[in-house]
Amino acid sequence: MSTQASATKDRGMPRVAVIGAGPAGMMAAITAAGRGAGVTVYEKNPFAGKKLRITGKGRCNVTNDCTPREVLDAVRRNPKFLYSAVYRFGPSDVMSFFEEAGVPLKTERGRRVFPVSDKAADIQQALVRKMTLSGVKVRYNTRVDSIYRDDGTWVVCSGSGKSTADAVIIATGGVSYPGTGSTGDGFRMLKRLGIRITELKPSLVPVNTAEDFAGLSGLTLKNVTLSVFHGEKCVFRELGEMLFTHFGVSGPLVLSASANMQDYPVAEYTMKVDLKPGLDREDLDARIIRDLSKYSAKDFVNSLSDLLPQKLIQYIVGVTGIDPRKKSRDISRAERGTLCEALSGFEITPVSFRPVDEAIITRGGAEVDQIDPKNMEVHGFPGLFVCGEMLDTDAYTGGFNLQIAFSTGRSAGEGASDIMRRKEKVKKTKKETKVDFTKIRVAIDGPSGAGKSTIAKQVAQKTGLIYVDTGSLYRAVGLYMARNSIDAYDEEKIVSELKNVDIRLEYSEGKQHVILNGECVDGMIRTEEVSYYASAVSKIPKVREFLMNLQKSLGDAGGVIMDGRDIGTVIIPDAEVKIFLVADAEERARRRYAEQLEKGQDVTFDEVLKSIIARDEQDSSRDVAPLKPAEDAVTLVNNRTIEDAVNFVIDLMKEKAQ
Ligand code: C5P
Repeated sequence: MSTQASATKDRGMPRVAVIGAGPAGMMAAITAAGRGAGVTVYEKNPFAGKKLRITGKGRCNVTNDCTPREVLDAVRRNPKFLYSAVYRFGPSDVMSFFEEAGVPLKTERGRRVFPVSDKAADIQQALVRKMTLSGVKVRYNTRVDSIYRDDGTWVVCSGSGKSTADAVIIATGGVSYPGTGSTGDGFRMLKRLGIRITELKPSLVPVNTAEDFAGLSGLTLKNVTLSVFHGEKCVFRELGEMLFTHFGVSGPLVLSASANMQDYPVAEYTMKVDLKPGLDREDLDARIIRDLSKYSAKDFVNSLSDLLPQKLIQYIVGVTGIDPRKKSRDISRAERGTLCEALSGFEITPVSFRPVDEAIITRGGAEVDQIDPKNMEVHGFPGLFVCGEMLDTDAYTGGFNLQIAFSTGRSAGEGASDIMRRKEKVKKTKKETKVDFTKIRVAIDGPSGAGKSTIAKQVAQKTGLIYVDTGSLYRAVGLYMARNSIDAYDEEKIVSELKNVDIRLEYSEGKQHVILNGECVDGMIRTEEVSYYASAVSKIPKVREFLMNLQKSLGDAGGVIMDGRDIGTVIIPDAEVKIFLVADAEERARRRYAEQLEKGQDVTFDEVLKSIIARDEQDSSRDVAPLKPAEDAVTLVNNRTIEDAVNFVIDLMKEKAQ
């Protein structure tokens, strides 16, 4: 640990690790350091802001000079999530930030804001300078491989070893332009922690076309209007600049248009360019008449050089079908009409988007319902923050995407620097008040063998909750059917037998006992055969109904922690704490295998693994109450120590009990 970091820790200020020195990461680092945190930024490139330097064609459209409301209007995905961040640090704040950092700004068409110098490098250098001035340490050429939490502290593993931090801010960007370092490292880290990532797709991306524009490649059209249609409906129309390439079309207009072509397959859209948007039909015709008479003795193809860029003439003449060698004076009125048509409605046929690695912005990312919009902290992972392009939000072009990066970076920086104060607060409340858990209901769902019962039992023991193992109810029904030699898949017979089944749960000294028709069957329900039966009977709606009231009445009483498959979704849908516990199938099979060996059962590891996979399949594909996380459940990946997982659940309970 560095001396700076230790000193920071001694003063009770947090140590913050920021992964990725892009616009969001740098803003987060500057903010956190400005509020007293000891900040280390990890950047895998040899310098910061690599992608930033090439944005806006190297000019860097830092923001849009508009109100926070207008920023949100320009956001395509999840604008509500950004409300707090954008209102707290909006366009005027971003502009003051850079002007105060010594970068004068100017506003251009569409209220796009650029540095007066037209140099993106000025923006990048201002951010780097600010980091240095605020005492941020940057470790260049350092790629972070993974992060994990150990006893309340985050561990950051990189090529140069492990280091610890009180808070980690992941800001590694999207997956567009991988040459700049945006290769999705952050998404892999989040996924490993069990954080959901939506499908990553290109947004603001060039377009492949059916037309072969190779002959026009490199030609830029300025001040043209591009319109995009889906059927009759115009989904985009803007004036600006576009570019022909060997594959199709690109440039600012096309990139902006692509963000509006996301609802249907790309090939369903049509594009039209008005090459002379300043002239209406009559003016355009008059202009053509003038040119044709000026060059009346020349071939038609040679009469258009005042009107069109040289490269485009051949193409347009081709589109009109007029003989290029025809003398200009011989061009008929109808032919002029065709030419007008070709100029004002130059047709382009989109076929597909270029790949995501050519997109300026990635669409998709960390699902925002898992993230606190006030400070970008991931729910259930105290001290873990995500910001910038990694979030599942994106906006149209015009400086909005960078604005989002700065706003969310700012919020994450504030959140991370507050982490110690929050920890202190939790400690204080721990000391001062004895938490009352008697009303709390905790639902833990997840696949077989994920460790639900181990965690639930310990939570119950530490907090005084009653642990209800609902799987044992299905197991008891299964045991009854097995004992009576009823076929596990004979639904009719099983349902008709239910009238002979009486199941009760009894509790003594914090332990649950399952009573089947008056007999305690605790010792008989954990065999492979009963597991098989339990899984089969639990698919039958009438069996679920049969066990429902008992479970609901236990849940309603409060002061319980129940585990199963449908507790958070069906049994106690309004539980205060909902956990969806997951673990890799092999890991679960290893645990179950060890348990069964201990009980002296004769099974092989492969059998256990197979049965776990088969039961997962059954539980999650069944029609009634399939195994799935409740919408508001916190997903917990059980790759941590039991103690850590137990404390995690208790922390959530405390939050709710206060
Ligand atoms: O959790 P356990 O493995 O003991 O559960 C036994 C079986 O009961 C599982 O395979 C599952 O299909 C079923 N079950 C269920 N709903 C619950 C609890 C268990 O369907 N709430």
